[in-house]
Amino acid sequence: MASIGFIGLGRMGSAMSRKLIEAGHDLWAFDLDPAAVDRIAGAGGHAAASAAEAAQGRDFVVTMLPNGPDVEEVLFAAPGVANAMARDTLYIDMSTVAPEATDAIAGRLSAMGIRMVDAPVGGTSEFAERGQLLILAGGDPQDVQAALPVFDAVGRETIHCGPAGAGTRTKLVNNYMSTVLNALTAETLAFAEAAGLDVMRTVKVLAGTTAGKGFLTGAYDRKIFSGDISPEFGLALASKDLGLALAYAAGLDVPLGVGAAASQVYAMSRADGFGPKDWSAVLETLRLRSALPARTFDD
Ligand code: NAD
Repeated sequence: MASIGFIGLGRMGSAMSRKLIEAGHDLWAFDLDPAAVDRIAGAGGHAAASAAEAAQGRDFVVTMLPNGPDVEEVLFAAPGVANAMARDTLYIDMSTVAPEATDAIAGRLSAMGIRMVDAPVGGTSEFAERGQLLILAGGDPQDVQAALPVFDAVGRETIHCGPAGAGTRTKLVNNYMSTVLNALTAETLAFAEAAGLDVMRTVKVLAGTTAGKGFLTGAYDRKIFSGDISPEFGLALASKDLGLALAYAAGLDVPLGVGAAASQVYAMSRADGFGPKDWSAVLETLRLRSALPARTFDD
């Protein structure tokens, strides 16, 4: 069993600390809130008087703090965790922070000879209580492998997303899609209700179509991911349907902001000449606008 320093005992960190203790690890806990430290000590952990004390000579040091500046302060403001860690300590940041912060932290630690894995999590504190988080890890394969005793205690699955910083970037991309889908979902249901539909019946329909099931494992997988944008559903027709919905909603005084932005993407894609192609070709349009290299497609 490993000795672990755990810093940041909020909603997530306190639940994760308990899971690590339950798994038999020796855990030194620190938080600015002494009551949070006492609770973990009461659950079988050790109370540390400072972040540096929690980190001194451990196999692993884990931070679960609000944001990048908090992580940088804990690591580098004297007496910082970075100086307290032994050279064979593996440092794991599980906070959700900006990619630039992760890169800067990994760079500074690497210059000190300290290995780091960025491992933000998917799932709420309720998932953390059950040890069912999704761990999105970035780092050298051997470091991610070495961190598995920690990840296995707090998570249901660990995905190695790529080199240092890839965990943080994957989390950001994932949350971008889910937060925008939340707004799109709400917008759609408000539209359905304003159109006089029975919303729960509509939900049943949406849940069974591409609307609810999404594109990743359906339309994109069959078409553009396979290098084929011959029309299964034509982009010009999809664009026409979006226009019908926007016009009808405007007549009902229903704002469709996400849809209005999407209509601009379809316009760009038609201007790129993809109107007669599959509607998944919007991906190529946005790749081109993102300065990514053009792909060739089977006709
Ligand atoms: P929280 O606000 O409940 O806890 C943060 C803890 O960090 C607090 O106890 C605070 O006292 C402590 N802290 C702040 N600065 C400190 C410092 N300098 N030294 C020591 N302790 C310090 O936040 P949370 O919900 O536990 O979230 C932690 C991280 O996990 C965040 O990056 C968040 O975005 C991410 N996250 C949260 C959830 C969730 O559902 N709550 C889900 C996924 C990811």
